[in-house]
Amino acid sequence: MKEDVLFISLDSCRYDTFEAAYVAGMLPHLAGIAPLHRAQAPSHFTYGSHAAFWMGFTPGVEGCGDPLLNPKAGKLFRMAFSGHHSRDQQGFSLDGANVIDGFRRLGYRTIGSGAVDWFDPSTETGAVLGEPFERFHFAGNTWSLSKQLEWLTAELADGADDQPVFVFLNVGETHVPYWHEGADWPCRPSPCIAFGGDRCDAHESARRQRACLEWVDAQLASLLKRFSESTVLICADHGDCWGEDGLWEHGISHPATLTVPLLMQLRGEPIAQGS
Ligand SMILES: [Zn+2]
Repeated sequence: MKEDVLFISLDSCRYDTFEAAYVAGMLPHLAGIAPLHRAQAPSHFTYGSHAAFWMGFTPGVEGCGDPLLNPKAGKLFRMAFSGHHSRDQQGFSLDGANVIDGFRRLGYRTIGSGAVDWFDPSTETGAVLGEPFERFHFAGNTWSLSKQLEWLTAELADGADDQPVFVFLNVGETHVPYWHEGADWPCRPSPCIAFGGDRCDAHESARRQRACLEWVDAQLASLLKRFSESTVLICADHGDCWGEDGLWEHGISHPATLTVPLLMQLRGEPIAQGS
């Protein structure tokens, strides 16, 4: 349905990881959405970025005057009474406590699935991000995309045909330890560990995160196809440091954690700069 919305956060996916795979033609399904943009994330860790996303502050292309690509110029998800209003006419105008509540008030069925611990509803802090959804599923680890997609597919099949949906998916395979089902390397030890150390390996981190992303692309094929006429936002919530300035992993403010990939399609139309 044209009014349906799909929002995917590729957890910790660095911009350069996405760009390398995208340029090599290894992300056919994600690349089919729209051109790739180099954007700035609102925070350097999962909770911070998603809390901002829920208020409409999605990643933005620095210095870009285009609405949607730069939330400062105009928001895809415009909450009433939050921040400076701008050229928001193209996106969705929402009331309520957050984006999910806003879509629910518009009559949408709101469905979400998260992979990283900030979406674990068994902890009080982890319950916050998933709480606004009518239906929410926590994967239990960062490498269960196939189970998340099974759950989402069943949820989508359950809904009424004429009710629009807002679907959120947080993908964990691109998060440390950079592993996916069937990968030809062991899940642990991770090549990227906070504070570094002898086991940290920037080259191996890049290789594994990219391989995970390419695997994720293939898994997402049918979900993306279902939303081909709809609004789709794909981004990372933050990146990871791989030894730049002596830093590793995320939760630290650095260009490597703040620069993220962004792709957007509005009601079936790809969003390019200047469009
Ligand atoms: Zn994250």
